[in-house]
This record gives sequence, C-alpha cells and structure tokens, in this order.
Amino acid sequence: MNSSQHPRSRGRWSIPGLGLLKGLAVTAQNMLQSYYRKDRMTTVQYPEQRAPISPNFRNFPFLCYDGSDPVAGLRCTACSICEKECPPQCIYIVLDRDRSGKSLKRPKVFDIDVSVCMNCGICAEVCPFDSIYMDGEYELSTDDRFGGLLFGLDRLSKSAEYHATLRPDQATEVAARRHAEEQKNLAVQAAKAAKLKAEKEKNAPEPSTEGEHA
Ligand code: SF4
Ligand code: SF4
Repeated sequence: MNSSQHPRSRGRWSIPGLGLLKGLAVTAQNMLQSYYRKDRMTTVQYPEQRAPISPNFRNFPFLCYDGSDPVAGLRCTACSICEKECPPQCIYIVLDRDRSGKSLKRPKVFDIDVSVCMNCGICAEVCPFDSIYMDGEYELSTDDRFGGLLFGLDRLSKSAEYHATLRPDQATEVAARRHAEEQKNLAVQAAKAAKLKAEKEKNAPEPSTEGEHA
C-alpha cells in the first residue's frame, strides 16, 4: 500500500463502536424531542388516525376513467403494452371485440394478480394512453389468498378525480396535456371537414341556365 493511502497517514482513525454511539445519540435525540416537537412525532394512533402518504408512495396499479362511467370513460385501449412490459407477467388483458370481430379498443378482461405484482411502476411508465397509475391504497389484507388478490376491472377502475386527489401534480399535468391533444384533434378534424366541403363545392355541377333563355 502507498504510504499516502494508509488511514493513519490521512489522519482518519476509527474508534470501535463510535458509529453505534452516534446512531444511539440520534435515536435518543428523536425520542426526547418527540415530547415537544410535532415534526418528531412520527407515529399516529392507527387506525383511528392515518399519516398522510408521501406523493411518491406507490403500491399497486389502478386504471383511470374520465367522467362518471367506469366502462365508457375507461382510458385503456387494451393495447397490451403494459402486459408485455410487466416484469413478473402479472397483468392479463383480453381485448373486447364486436360481433364481427372488430376491436372495440377497450379491455373485456383486465386482471392484475397483486400477489405477484412487485410495485415497480413500469406499467404506469409505459402506458401511452394515461390509463394506468400507481395507487396509494395499502389496506388490502384478505384471507382469500387467490381470488382476493386478483384484481379485475371492477376493482382496478378508479376515476380521474381519485387520481387528482392522490397525485394532484401528475393529474393536472395529464389533464392539461389531454386537453391540448383533444383541441389539436378537433382542429385537425375541422380543417379536414372544411377541405372536404370546399372540394365538394368546387366539383358540384354548374346550375342549368336553359330555362332562362326560353
Ligand atoms: S407495478 Fe410492475 S409488477 Fe406490478 S403490474 Fe405494474 S409492471 Fe407489473
Ligand atoms: S393500461 Fe395503458 S398500456 Fe396497458 S393496455 Fe391499457 S392503454 Fe395499453
């Protein structure tokens, strides 16, 4: 070892047990201050009281819908990107189709096995339709190990208002972006309709003038 790298040569001496004593001092400080400082009172009388969850807390995913109808307002198009990207493969989606087999761009079945989900949030990151987000709900204990932990559409679907309560910043940003996209689409459709109308008028036959000369 180079002499300049030796702990003694750098003046760094470690006293055995010093780290432990420092840790105990912090614990004692927190304990004593918790009697008179509110920010040190880190425990609450659960379940009567609940501590607010951190904005970054995430548990299992939920599906977002607009308006008051969880079926008609569901944003999910059953594109299956989240299903493919989910590392433990705990998402199961069946696309809904009409009688002729045409896609209805919505899920007929959307299941998440939360006993397998590892709360990674990848599904929420990859969804291109602002449809799936991580939930903050944590009181999910059940004695039904299989059925009770397999969440279907009825349990997964939650309103955009719920999303706004849970993650206000994210919901505001998403709502603004969706509104801008909607306005852009409306403008494109209006421009297309105007162009079609103009072409129709241009190609329409000239009105007959025979009667006027008779
Ligand atoms: S949070 Fe991760 S593990 Fe859970 S469903 Fe989403 S992608 Fe899968
Ligand atoms: S939640 Fe998003 S990524 Fe998953 S199927 Fe629905 S639209 Fe696609």
